[in-house]
Amino acid sequence: MAKAGVSVAARKMTRQIILGGVAIGGGAPVSVQSMTTTKTADVDGTLQQIYALAAAGADIVRCTCNEREAAEGLARIVPRSPVPIVADIHFHVEMALAALDAGVNGLRLNPGNLRKPEEIKLVAKEAKDRGVPIRIGVNAGSLHPELYKRFGGATPEALVESARQELAYFDEVDFHDVKISVKASSVPLMIEAYRLASETFDFPLHLGVTEAGPPPSGLVKATAGIATLLAEGIGDTIRYSLTADPVEEARAGRQLLEALGLRERRGLDLIACPSCGRAEIDVIGVAKRVQEALEERKIPLQVAVMGCVVNGPGEAREADLGIAAGRHKGHLFIKGKIVRVVPESEMVEALVAEADKIIAEGIEARLAAADGAAEAEAEADRRQLLDEKGADANRSEEVVMRIRKHLDEHKQDRGSQDGASG
Ligand code: SF4
Repeated sequence: MAKAGVSVAARKMTRQIILGGVAIGGGAPVSVQSMTTTKTADVDGTLQQIYALAAAGADIVRCTCNEREAAEGLARIVPRSPVPIVADIHFHVEMALAALDAGVNGLRLNPGNLRKPEEIKLVAKEAKDRGVPIRIGVNAGSLHPELYKRFGGATPEALVESARQELAYFDEVDFHDVKISVKASSVPLMIEAYRLASETFDFPLHLGVTEAGPPPSGLVKATAGIATLLAEGIGDTIRYSLTADPVEEARAGRQLLEALGLRERRGLDLIACPSCGRAEIDVIGVAKRVQEALEERKIPLQVAVMGCVVNGPGEAREADLGIAAGRHKGHLFIKGKIVRVVPESEMVEALVAEADKIIAEGIEARLAAADGAAEAEAEADRRQLLDEKGADANRSEEVVMRIRKHLDEHKQDRGSQDGASG
């Protein structure tokens, strides 16, 4: 039988890297990325956005790591994120090291920003020791001035050369866990740069039109660039860079891949927390049972399975329906509002029954039918869980203390070096 979707050229076979469990390149499904717009130090706000992005189709989410508070935020975000987290490092090597301490699944380095070879090699070595891939994120707008001069501007050749130079530093420390992007805001320039990158490297490519702007023109520009390349078989992971709510980026990325027949269409959209020190149930097992039950019914809802009532309903507040576990009970929630509390042994059945009712009656009607006592019961369970397990069941604070120590040591080293050279 003919395969659905447009005729897309055979995918260029690249090396495969694994980013926090998501395979990129080497024939893996093209993945969707997006980036949070919250301050990374705002842990709850960032997690809520990450959950919304995951629900909209993001497989990987990037957060900025531009200051000490952001690195500390990452230490608290990573264990609770439903998708792998990449830290975007700007100018400071210590932020890259702190992000690695925080346990991120990937780093993005811009060769135009982090320029000292010793620092680049140090980050690559640390990433290698921890099995964390790095994206060499070349950007036409922040190309190294030397390359700009040598090539007479941000040409495709200059962008690819920038990536090649960075790869040479990585080579010196035997680090090859890499993906590459050569983004530009000009669509023709970006297309040419990626074609050249695809001929030059066998590393997976991360596609994007940088600073595409607000929709609808931003959507058109990004689609023109990304879709052209995907149709030629180029590209392993994509990001729409829109001046808009990032949920639109994730949704657009997913829709483009579905439109090209590169990802399957979703009926039921199940999201589940990755589970962490707070989990009260076997999240994987429950998610599997929910998936089987709802897929059979062809329920077109976004459904969340969350390991605890402490954070679950808030983190997954974008989901139509969800269940969070707490003290041997299942807390059923609709759009983040607890509507019913049921015994743990009945949680899957209760969730399926509620899904059927939502389809029959609509979300508003089911919200109106909520059990008035459920919110108070959930709050009592939430408090008791915090008392029993402590506020820091993930031991994030230990990691934060480690980050602080390393950053302070780095600062002292810098100070003594400056003193010696001055
Ligand atoms: S167990 Fe709770 S805090 Fe941990 S990831 Fe799941 S919902 Fe978030």
